[in-house]
Amino acid sequence: MIEIIYIEDSIAQHPRTIDILKRFPQATPIPCANYKEVFNPAGQNFRLQKKKPALILAEKKGNRALPIPETYGIGGKYNFYFSHMLNCLYDCRYCFLQGMYPSAHYVLFVNFEDFLSDIQSKTAQQPEQPVWFFSGYDCDSLALDHISQFTQSFLPHFRANPTAHLELRTKSVNIKPLLNNDPLKNVVTAFSFTPQEISTQLEHGVPSVSSRINAMKKLTQSGWQVGLRIDPIIDCTNFSKRYESLFFDIFSIIPLEMIHSVSLGAFRMPGPFFKKMEKLYPTEKLFAGSLEKKQGVVSYKKEIEQKRKETCKNLLLQLIPEEKLFLCETAPETTF
Ligand code: SF4
Repeated sequence: MIEIIYIEDSIAQHPRTIDILKRFPQATPIPCANYKEVFNPAGQNFRLQKKKPALILAEKKGNRALPIPETYGIGGKYNFYFSHMLNCLYDCRYCFLQGMYPSAHYVLFVNFEDFLSDIQSKTAQQPEQPVWFFSGYDCDSLALDHISQFTQSFLPHFRANPTAHLELRTKSVNIKPLLNNDPLKNVVTAFSFTPQEISTQLEHGVPSVSSRINAMKKLTQSGWQVGLRIDPIIDCTNFSKRYESLFFDIFSIIPLEMIHSVSLGAFRMPGPFFKKMEKLYPTEKLFAGSLEKKQGVVSYKKEIEQKRKETCKNLLLQLIPEEKLFLCETAPETTF
């Protein structure tokens, strides 16, 4: 339940702002000159805010479609990400957002038309090539769709521009906005997973593994392609068994031809973010595991990371062809 909505002056009269305010009549609107006044101050209590985040409606200025690191794609040559929202409904202990942002409030940039215009111009630069746009780095793409109406606002653009490809990355089962539309070949809804026991411990508020598989099933039955994101891989006891059983549960239900891609990424976190997260959750076991800091990034010790990635890779290659599998490596300076 949103109780407070901050509204940046520059978009106070934007039709999307007006529409959101109408849909949340119980919320108290508070004007602000710049969203950063509310979002950026240091010393805010992230854990407290996470319990009842406010919504901040703002205007995204500057470059709205940014290149992703080279090693992060899913087969395309031209890749960009964009963030129409900051922060997330869910509360995953490993989420880098809590290390990166001083506030847990949701920021929604309402000037979608400017995002779409930037997406259009990046697409136009490669008229013959697929250009990928990733929407779920600074938020979950679907979890707050009932507020943002992001999907219904962006799908028409991708319908009209088939060389532009969209990845919706999510742990949500909020797939109605997609099911209400005819499927698009250039849109992939990519679901992130860890085994259920790990999810229960670390992914607070996230729908169960089985309900996410069910959402994937419904989408594929309606002709939408899905992706699978095993990222971050979390080390645990009975690692092989747990991940094997997760993959089995998914692939025994989802037809292989509807799986666009599977990606694997190890747990990694820029050092300063990790430090902040440790402070937020000093008793969290995840942060006390076999981790090391190298080149400014905290990750599992090299041998553990390699072993776990290899195990997942081998398990997956028994189920999918190699061309659908992508290994994500992240450069130390990036925040993904
Ligand atoms: S679902 Fe993704 S964005 Fe949301 S808290 Fe979890 S890791 Fe962060």
